[in-house]
Amino acid sequence: MKKKIIALFLAALTAFQLTGCTQLITKQAMENRLDAENSDEGTADKGMEESGGQDAAGGKADVSKQDTADGGNTEEDLDGVRYQDDYYEYVNENILNEIELGATDAHWDWFSELSAYVSEEMSDITRDLTKDGKDYPKGSSEQKIKDLYECVSNIESRNKTGLGELQPYMDAIRDARTIDEYVDALARLSGDYGFSSIVGGYSIMQDRADSSKYAVYMMYADTLIGKEYIENSAAGEYVDLYLDYINDMLTEFGFSSDEAAAGVEEIEALLRDICASTLSAEQLYDPAVTYNPYTKEQLGQLYTNLNVDNMLKALKIDGQDKYIVMDVEQAKKINSLLVEENLQALKDYSTFVLLNDIAEYSAQGYARLKEDMDNALYGITQRWDDERVYMNMTQDLLPWDFGEIYVERHFSEKDKENVEEMIGLILDEYEDIIMRQGWLSDATKQKAVKKLETMQIKIGYPDEWPAAKDMMQVVPVSEGGSLISNMLTSMQVAIDDSLSRLGEPVDKSEWEATPQTINAYYSPQNNEIVFPAAILQYPFYSGDRDEAANLGGIGYIIAHEVSHAFDSSGSLYDEYGNYNIWWTDEEQKEYAELTKSIIDYYDGYEMMGIAVNGELTLMENIADLGAVTCIAAIIGDDEEALDTAFGQMAYNWASEDTASYMMYLINMDTHAPNKIRVNAVLSSCDAFYEIYDIDEDDGMYVAPEDRVGIWR
Ligand SMILES: [Zn+2]
Repeated sequence: MKKKIIALFLAALTAFQLTGCTQLITKQAMENRLDAENSDEGTADKGMEESGGQDAAGGKADVSKQDTADGGNTEEDLDGVRYQDDYYEYVNENILNEIELGATDAHWDWFSELSAYVSEEMSDITRDLTKDGKDYPKGSSEQKIKDLYECVSNIESRNKTGLGELQPYMDAIRDARTIDEYVDALARLSGDYGFSSIVGGYSIMQDRADSSKYAVYMMYADTLIGKEYIENSAAGEYVDLYLDYINDMLTEFGFSSDEAAAGVEEIEALLRDICASTLSAEQLYDPAVTYNPYTKEQLGQLYTNLNVDNMLKALKIDGQDKYIVMDVEQAKKINSLLVEENLQALKDYSTFVLLNDIAEYSAQGYARLKEDMDNALYGITQRWDDERVYMNMTQDLLPWDFGEIYVERHFSEKDKENVEEMIGLILDEYEDIIMRQGWLSDATKQKAVKKLETMQIKIGYPDEWPAAKDMMQVVPVSEGGSLISNMLTSMQVAIDDSLSRLGEPVDKSEWEATPQTINAYYSPQNNEIVFPAAILQYPFYSGDRDEAANLGGIGYIIAHEVSHAFDSSGSLYDEYGNYNIWWTDEEQKEYAELTKSIIDYYDGYEMMGIAVNGELTLMENIADLGAVTCIAAIIGDDEEALDTAFGQMAYNWASEDTASYMMYLINMDTHAPNKIRVNAVLSSCDAFYEIYDIDEDDGMYVAPEDRVGIWR
C-alpha cells in the first residue's frame, strides 16, 4: 500500500499554542549551541538534541493525525509542496507558517522554543524571590539566586566596578616589557581564573588513552570569530564587522582612535597567521589528530620562546607526567610569534580577548558592544530587553541550583521508566544491526556488542549534585560583591574543582549536563548516553500518545546517540572509553570508503544557497542515518506506524533561521541544517520508499545504489 500517509501534523498546531513563539525564542538556544560547540571535543552532541515542551496551558499537546482520506491534506498541499519532493517542507508547512522570527531572534526550532520556555519558568522563580522581601540562609539556592540577580541587574554597581579584580591582570598584560613578562601575565590570568588568549590555556579532562584517569590538555589559542569565517570568502562581511567590533572595544577601553586602528591591523595580521596553522573544526573532532602527549621536557622543545617551567607553575599544573597538546601546528606557530617585535600586537590581542570574554559581566558599554556584535553575526536586529538578559545570566551562573529546582518541579519517574524501556528496545535492535554487517569480522562484532551491553544510561538528573554547586557562593552587593566578583568566583570554583581531580580516579557517575538542559549526548569516554530531564517533553516525548510517535521523537534521538558510539570518532574508543582502535585494517578501510560516500552525499545538498560541509557534519550524519535504520527496523512493516514515526521525526526538526544564522551554522555546526537532516536521511532509508510512492523524478528520490549509511 504505497502512498496514503503523512497523517500529519498539519492540523495539530492549533491545539498547540506556541508560547508566543518568536518573543520567547532563540538567543538562549543559540548561546547553548555556541557553548556546546566551544566546549565539546568528542562526539557529544550538544547543539542538536534539545527538547522539552509544553503548551501555554501547562498541559501536553499531542501531535494529532489528520486523516488524509477525509478531505484533509492529500499528498499535495495548497502551496503545491509534495511530500515526494520535499518531505520536511510538507510535514512542517503549518508550523513554519506560524513561526515568524522576531527582530530579537536568529533561529527557531523546538529546542530553542523549549529552552526559552524552561528559562521563563526559572525566571518566574527569580522574580518571586526578588519580591518576597525574605532573608534566606547564606548558601541556600534562594539566597544565591536573589543576591546574584541583584548584582547582575545593578548597572550602577557594574559600571562602577569595571573590570574589578581583573584590573591588575589587565595591567600586567598592558605593562609587560618583555615576552617573558607577557607570558607570565597570561599564565597567572589563566591559572587564577581560567581566561586564556594566545598561550597558557588548559583543561583537565579524562585521559583519552585511559578514561579512568584525568589528564591536562593544553588548549588552542582563541581565534576570535574563528578560522571558518576568516578563511571563508563568502563570510567577508562578517569578518569586517568583527574587526569594527575589535576597534570599538579597544576604544571603549581607552585607546585613542589611532591606537585602536593600529591595534586592529596588528590583531588581524596575527589572527590570519594563527588561523592558517589552526586545525579545522572537523579535525578537532578527530582524536588521532588532537591527542598528542608531551612530557614537560618535550613541551619545552615545542615552546622554545617561553619558560615552560615558570608557565606550568603559574598555571598550577606543574609536575604532571604528560601534557596533551591539542593543536601541535598551531602551538608551533604561536611559539614562532612569541618574539619581541610582536610584543605590542600580542598585548593588544590578549587585551581584546580578555575584554571580549568578560564584556557581558562588566560595565554596560562593553556588554552592549558584545551583544550588538553577536546580534549582527546571527542576523538579530533588535536587542533583548534587559530583564531577559539578566535572568538568563543569573541562570547561567547558577546552573545546578536551578537544576535542583527544575527537577523538583518537573521530573516524572514514570516517564523515566518508559524511556528506559525504549532504550532497551533500541539497544537490542542495534545489536541486530551490528550482527548483520557482512564486512565485520566476528571478533569486531563481539566487541561492538560488548560496547552496547556496557553502555551506561543516564536519564533525568544525577544521584548526587556536583560539588561545584555548594562550592559556588554569592556575595551580595551590600557586602561588597559585584557581578564580576561573583562571576570570578564561579571561574575559581571550576578551576579548584578541576585541579582537585588530578591524580584521582574518574567518577563516571557524574553528570556534565544540567537537568534543565534541552539536549542529549553520547560520551565516548564514559561510553554513556545522557538524557537530561528536560528532553522528556513534547514534541519529543509524551506519556500519553502512541508508541510510534515517541519512537519518531525521543526514540530517534536515543538511536542517534547510540549510533555515536560507532560514528567516525566514537568508533575509535573501546567499551571502556579508551581511545583504542579495535578494528582490523580491512574494516578500517571499508569504514573509510563508506564515510567517503556519506561525505559526498551530503556535499551535494545546500541550504539558502550555501553548500553543506559533508566532512564537518560527518559524525552527525552517520548518527542520523544509523538512527533512522534502527527506528524503522523496530517498527517493522506497520505502514501507519512508520508514517507516524517519520512524520514525527521531520516535525522534531522544524526550524527557521535568519540568513546570517544559517551562515554561522554551515560554518560551525557539526550538524547539517535541520531540513537536510530530515530529507537526506529519509532519502537514504529503504523503508521510506516502501511506504510512500516516490518516483525517480521526485525530489526525495535517490537510487538504491546511491543511498548511504554505515549502520544499515
Ligand atoms: Zn549527535
